[in-house]
Formats: sequence, C-alpha cells, structure tokens
Amino acid sequence: MDVFGGIEAGGTKFVCAVGSGPDDIRAQEQFSTTTPEETLGKTIEFFKEQMKKEDIKAIGIATFGPADPDPDSPTYGYITSTPKPGWRNTDFAGNIKEALNLPVGFDTDVNGAAQGEYIWGAAGGLDTFIYLTIGTGLGGGGMVRGKLIHGLIHPEMGHMRIPHDREKDPYQGKCPYHGDCLEGLACGPAIEERWGQKAHTLPPDHPAWDLEAHYLALGLHNLICTLSPRRIIMGGGVMKQSQLFPKIRKKVLKLLNGYIQSPEILEHIDRYIVPPGLGERSGVLGAIALAKSVTM
Ligand code: ADP
Ligand code: ZN
Repeated sequence: MDVFGGIEAGGTKFVCAVGSGPDDIRAQEQFSTTTPEETLGKTIEFFKEQMKKEDIKAIGIATFGPADPDPDSPTYGYITSTPKPGWRNTDFAGNIKEALNLPVGFDTDVNGAAQGEYIWGAAGGLDTFIYLTIGTGLGGGGMVRGKLIHGLIHPEMGHMRIPHDREKDPYQGKCPYHGDCLEGLACGPAIEERWGQKAHTLPPDHPAWDLEAHYLALGLHNLICTLSPRRIIMGGGVMKQSQLFPKIRKKVLKLLNGYIQSPEILEHIDRYIVPPGLGERSGVLGAIALAKSVTM
C-alpha cells in the first residue's frame, strides 16, 4: 500500500497527515495558520520526521486561495492574491517540493475534497460532479469527465451573483469584493452577522435556515444549469445543520420547475444533493488524494 502525505491548508488551520486512505491514517498533526515561514516550517518539520518512518511517495496540498493550480504558469503552486496577511505571492508548492524532494500535487481545498470524494466518498463512480463547502467562505470545485476543473485559474463558484430581495433581507452581504454575492449572503459569518448570533446557536426551526436554503438553492440552480453535474456534495461547517438538506432539495426542485428532465433530479434528489461521504475528513483525505493522483 503506497503511503502519501497530505496538507489541508486552511486560512485558520493547517492539518498534515500521512497515510494511504480513510482507513489508514498513520500520523496527523494540526496547527494554526500564522506566517508562511512559521507555518510551512512546521509542515516541513512534520513530514521530515515522518519520512524517517514511512516511505512517502508524494505530497498533496489542498489549499485556501486564491492559488495558481496551472502547471504551465510561472506562479504554479503559489498562493496568489489572498488578503491573508503575509501569504500573498507565497511559493507554497515550490517550498515544500524543495524541502522534501518529493513530487507535489497542488490544488484548491475544494478540488482536493472533490478528488477525495471521487476516490473514497460520495462521488463514487461519477465523473462529473461538484463539491461545495459552506463555512467561513463559500467555495466550489469538482470534476468534469474525471478531471478536476481548472481553467483560466480555478472556479470561484461562491462568488456568483444571485437575486437578493433587499426588502425581505436587508443584510448587505459579507463579501469584501461583491457584498451580496452568494458567499456574501450565505457563508457562516454572513449568517452570524445577519442574525447577531453564532450560527450553531440558531435553533433548527429558526427562519435563518429557510433563508439560507433559499440562497443555496439559487446557487445550485445556476450550477446545475451551467455544469450539469451528476451529483452535488455539500460540506463545511454550515452544512452541519442537516435540516438544510431537505429544504435545499425542495427549493431546487421548485426553482428548476421541471426543466431539467433527469430522473436523478426529478425522482432521486435525495441522492443528488448529499453531504460528503468522508464527512469532516474530506479536507485532509482530499489532500492525500491529490498526492495519490500525482503518482497515477
Ligand atoms: P473553514 O471554512 O474555516 O474551513 P468550517 O467549514 O468549519 O471552516 O466553517 C466554519 C464556519 O461554519 C463558522 O464560522 C460558522 O459560521 C459555521 N459553523 C460551524 N459549525 C456550525 C454549526 N454547527 N452550525 C452552523 N454553522 C456552523
Ligand atoms: Zn464575492
């Protein structure tokens, strides 16, 4: 069984792990995201220690962004335009590769999670699907015909514009670039600012969740119409509110209004819009999955 290293690089914390898959994680460590020097230093130290014991074949990095996942670009493997202090123009993949002398796979956190869900989780057998996370931000990645989606840069599904009725919801939105884009209206911190309390303290029958499901369903409608995914996986802290799933499914059916004539949507919406099969481990296992895919 080949062993890989995975780095789930979040804006708040880094999780590093070594293993071959969900049933075989041999070591794991996490620490806060501080400066690039300190954080990458700790990351490198962890893997150097692990390499004394394990024959690690490659490292996968599933990172916050924006990042450059284009192997032909001069800034491939960089964190690029992030507002996160100190991280702008950081050669993430290059530093790791040089220090550890191993092949490195590098992609967004959501594309990593998608790769993990593809190999071991809820996307099983489907080559065209979307993975969305609704947490501190709102991001999306996924695959088309078995390939992770890249293009000019990488998808920024969270920043799509959706209808916003300011009479019903006067909240101006949280996105520093767009205000009331999907992320601005539906990310965890937006829920908290709008209702003035921590999202996990809002009871399941609070109107916050109907509004949240409404915005997320509008986003899904657009994604279904543009990418024609065979499944949509929804993870992240906000989706721990499992009452959102039936609400979102119902609203998506209503919004599409019978237009997309697929039994997967019309008859099997319960298996069309689903939580991650890997649960909260989809991030770190996604990073390991990115490492695995470099060697395939
Ligand atoms: P990140 O996006 O930083 O990687 P998460 O996906 O865990 O991390 O998202 C964190 C956000 O999700 C928090 O800011 C909070 O708004 C929201 N959140 C976390 N737990 C819950 C919960 N149980 N119910 C609703 N919202 C939650
Ligand atoms: Zn935005």
